[in-house]
Amino acid sequence: MDFKFSPEEEAFRQEVRAWVKAEVPPRWYELDPGLWEETDESWALLRDFQRKLGQKGWLAPAYPKEYGGSEMSHIRRLILSEELYYHRAPVGIEMEISVNWVGGAVLLFGNDQQKKKYLSEVARGESCFCLGYSEPNSGSDLASIQTRAVEDGDSWVINGQKTWCSFAHYANYCWLGARTDPSAPKHRGISMFIIDMKTPGITVKPLINILGCHSFNEVFLDDVRVPKDALVGERNQGWYQLAMALDYERSLIGTAAANQRLIEELIEYAREGRASATADHEGQLIRDELAELVVENEVLRMMCYRIAWMYSKGLHPSYESSMSLLFSSDLLRRIAKVGMRVLGHYGEVGPGSHLAVAKARMMRTYLSCLSIGVGGGTNEIQKNIVAMRGLGLPRQQ
Ligand SMILES: Cc1cc2nc3c(=O)[nH]c(=O)nc-3n(C[C@H](O)[C@H](O)[C@H](O)COP(=O)(O)OP(=O)(O)OC[C@H]3O[C@@H](n4cnc5c(N)ncnc54)[C@H](O)[C@@H]3O)c2cc1C
Repeated sequence: MDFKFSPEEEAFRQEVRAWVKAEVPPRWYELDPGLWEETDESWALLRDFQRKLGQKGWLAPAYPKEYGGSEMSHIRRLILSEELYYHRAPVGIEMEISVNWVGGAVLLFGNDQQKKKYLSEVARGESCFCLGYSEPNSGSDLASIQTRAVEDGDSWVINGQKTWCSFAHYANYCWLGARTDPSAPKHRGISMFIIDMKTPGITVKPLINILGCHSFNEVFLDDVRVPKDALVGERNQGWYQLAMALDYERSLIGTAAANQRLIEELIEYAREGRASATADHEGQLIRDELAELVVENEVLRMMCYRIAWMYSKGLHPSYESSMSLLFSSDLLRRIAKVGMRVLGHYGEVGPGSHLAVAKARMMRTYLSCLSIGVGGGTNEIQKNIVAMRGLGLPRQQ
């Protein structure tokens, strides 16, 4: 692996940085929504910005040109991602869902018509997806989903209930897993569909998250009739598509850059002598912990680079993505914990108060990071994947 970026890649980084500085509306930074904190206003700014990214060919940079991408190398895609996340541009999970997780799977399994329609819409920033995976009784054991899709003439009729669907209240489409052969072993009777969220029979109900925000939803499907071509790929082969889409979901490459910004802000705060150390030994502890976070984030950066490098070589990261997600979710929790210690009581002050530090970002991170080791599969599930796919250990009976 070559750890150095070429002069052209460094120039590209500068170009992205300047563009982000010029194009992110100041109102976005005033609102400063963190992960899972979208409001109608921040959502509108986010979609506007993503349309601008789309016009530059930077929203879905690795897509083929015929689907609105710019066939950008994966290393440049990494640089773009680092700059967007470091500068807290209006991008986040909702963009990842549509462009990389669903888009990545559609690119592999969709037919020409589906790729043309959905990938092009996503790449232009016109449409976005939500994920219809989890159900009230199926989370980690995703293969046990009970939502049914039954063929009826020239349609599929879908009935069931999905839960924790992030941004389903804004999404145009749902990438949905449903059982199409109840008599087959559970992994072999699932198919994947793309359904229009405006289809009659779909009801979306809000679930309020730990931050008091509406980010995820329950989605009820009652006799939802969708055309035959809503099916993606082969019937009953959906488990394979789900597994690939989940690998993409676990392959976030901008996380180290986002963390770096948080850690730098903490260091700055401590440097100014504002850290809440009441005794000498506490000051030493904070120094040690901040130094440790910097080292650990460099480890995470290498994991992100490894994933980008694997994509650039045409390889598909699998357990490597789980390793990275596992490490990054643990690390973000440590950053938030140290951050709360550095800020002391100021860390507990809510964003509305004049005493809040940086709009209470650390407190909001402290709360939201609890969900990072759950979404996309819990930390225990990532460990199982690393053990089985990475280390070749047997599945536990
Ligand atoms: C912020 C956030 C966003 C989300 N967005 C979406 C979304 O957009 N769409 C969607 O479909 N879902 C979404 N989810 C749901 C998420 O995928 C599930 O919550 C997750 O897969 C865990 O499932 P569960 O909640 O049913 O927990 P369970 O599966 O019931 O797990 C409970 C506990 O048991 C442990 N456990 C279960 N099985 C095993 C095992 N085999 N080995 C060891 N431990 C095990 C788990 O680690 C966990 O600690 C989201 C979740 C969060 C937190």
